[in-house]
Parts: sequence; structure tokens; C-alpha cells
Amino acid sequence: MHTEYFIVDKENPDKAVLSKAAELLKQGKLVAFPTETVYGLGANGLDEKAAAGIFSAKGRPSDNPLILHIANREDVDQLATHISTNAKVLMEAFWPGPLTVVLRRKAIVPDIITGGLETVAIRLPDSIVARQLIFMAGTPIAAPSANTSGRPSPTSAQAVLDDLEGKIHAVVDAGNCQIGVESTVVDCTTPVPTLLRPGGVTLEMLMATVGEVEIDPTLAGSFELAPKSPGMKYSHYAPDAPMVLFEGAYPHLADLLLLEVKTALAEGKKVGAVVSTETAARLPKEVVAFVYGSRKRIDEIAANLYKALRSYDDNPVDIIYTEGIPEDGLGLAIMNRLRKASGYRIVNG
Ligand code: AMP
Ligand code: MG
Repeated sequence: MHTEYFIVDKENPDKAVLSKAAELLKQGKLVAFPTETVYGLGANGLDEKAAAGIFSAKGRPSDNPLILHIANREDVDQLATHISTNAKVLMEAFWPGPLTVVLRRKAIVPDIITGGLETVAIRLPDSIVARQLIFMAGTPIAAPSANTSGRPSPTSAQAVLDDLEGKIHAVVDAGNCQIGVESTVVDCTTPVPTLLRPGGVTLEMLMATVGEVEIDPTLAGSFELAPKSPGMKYSHYAPDAPMVLFEGAYPHLADLLLLEVKTALAEGKKVGAVVSTETAARLPKEVVAFVYGSRKRIDEIAANLYKALRSYDDNPVDIIYTEGIPEDGLGLAIMNRLRKASGYRIVNG
């Protein structure tokens, strides 16, 4: 299959170009497009066959449900019922934006979207390109991250093509995604809203808005429990080489990381390191380093995270050592992704 390539301006996308992409979506085809979080792989979310294409292109397990993306707040009422006050408050506060709410589904939502659950996940993205495309397609758009299942999510059109060229009908390029980690998923069917996946809207922001927020126990990494967000149980975001994550207080964790780096170099290994500006200054020259930003700029670290994990695709190493950060703000989402990417190989300083 030939993958068509469309390029548009992030703030002021050419409508004629977007309408070509929207036309493909209407025909049941697969179109990757940017959002403010990561690039999504879109298909008509009310068309069972179109949505099935997402699972085959990504190699995604069929019990991992998809998020429906909408263009207007009112579109929720077509898809979900029993919308709680908390859900309304959250949508009011964070839409358009990187918040996904889980609500009771209506019958119009195909089983393939919900993975057979009685709930549906819905988001109104902030990205102008995403919203205009969804609006022009005239239907909710199912859009998981546009990567091969298990790989780091794409934050550029090139990263989408690296995984899915020839497997999807088109990609819309509007440059790099601003946020860089996926949306926050909140289950609003429980009496107290439950955080299922940390993301672009922080836990602190949620709590400041609705008061109490429960945290799904599976986020602590206990895989004995059936995850309510089925996607959380799969290995995810992983680079090709094994990765070890260093957690704990700074600069102690950097001391430990540097010791491991030196040991691995002495063993003749080719070593990668995903680290802060602060730590990079201390790395031996032989290390293939990706500097994800300053420890003082968590937003920069989030925006560079998946690019860092993908940077070893073209420059393979034997092992990657990664520097953890505090779990405040966006740090919670970043550490959640790094723990999964490392397959829970964690050194606690
Ligand atoms: P992705 O779009 O690939 O970033 O993943 C979407 C995330 O939302 C996955 O973790 C899914 O398991 C989760 N999700 C989608 N629908 C539901 C739902 N109805 N209930 C709980 N989690 C969901
Ligand atoms: Mg994903």
C-alpha cells in the first residue's frame, strides 16, 4: 500500500489539504495525524471494519480498546450515557486538551472500539489540525498512538512512517507534538474519578479540579490485578535494546548510573544513556548519549522522551541507562512510561 503524505501548518492548516485526508477517513481508510500529545492512527470510530484496520496495522491486541476523538464537546452525548457531575467538571476544565474520560457507552459504539467493555474512552484534542480533521470527517475518530504495538509512541510524522509506512493510507504532518506523552485517562464511571493512565493533564491538576482522585492500583505495577485500562498490561514504549532505569534522589542516582556506565564500557559493551543536561556533562565520551533536557524543565523532558527512546533505532547499542526524575506534575507520566519501557529493570538509589 502507498502511504500518502500531507503537510500542513500547525496553527493554520490548509483546509483543502485536510479535506483530502478527511475524505480518506470517510472512506474507511487509515490516516495518521498529529495531536498535542502524540501522533494518532485514525479511523472512523463508528465503522467496525475501519477500526479493525487499526489493530492489524499496529499489531495491537484486540482486547486493548481505542479512544474515540471528537471535534466538539456535544459529540459526547451521541456516544456515552450516565455522564456524572465529576465527568462534566473535568471535561469543562480540560477540554480541548490531553484528558480522556471513560464513560458508560451507548449502543452506537462498536464492540471493537471498547474491547467488549461497557465503557468508552473519549477525548476532545486541543490540536487545531486534529480537531479540524475530525470535524471534516464528520464522525468520531478512533486513534491510538500511531506506532507499531509495543514501540515508543511517535511525536513526529517521520516516526509514524518509520513504523507504519506501507501499512496505512496517509499521514498528516504538522511538525512535532508539543506535549510528547499521551493523554491522561480518567475513569468517570466510579463514584470517585479514577486515574487509569497518567498523562498530559497532571494528577495535581485533576485533584485541584474535583478534589478527590483515586489511583488505579495497577499503576503501581502490580500485574496480578486485571487492569481497568487494558492497554496498561502490555509491554510498551520499549526501545530495541534492553534499558535500565535509575530512580531516587539526585545526584545520588546519577552517581549510580555513571558507575554502571563505566562497568559496562569496561566489559566492552556499546552503551547508550538517556539523561538530563546536568548528568550528560559527566558522561564518558564513548557513550551514545541522548540528552532529554534539563531536570528543571519537565515539559522539555516529556516532549523529547519518545524521540530519545527511538534514537537508538538507527544507532544500536547493547544497553541503555536512563535517568529518572521526580514524580511531580508531568513527571508521573514520564516515569510511568520509563518504567514500562525498561520492562521494570529498575535500580533504586
Ligand atoms: P493509546 O491510544 O494507544 O495511547 O491507548 C489508549 C489507552 O486508553 C489504553 O491504555 C486503553 O486501555 C485505554 N482505554 C481505552 N478505552 C478504555 C475503556 N473503555 N476503559 C478503560 N481504558 C480504556
Ligand atoms: Mg499507545
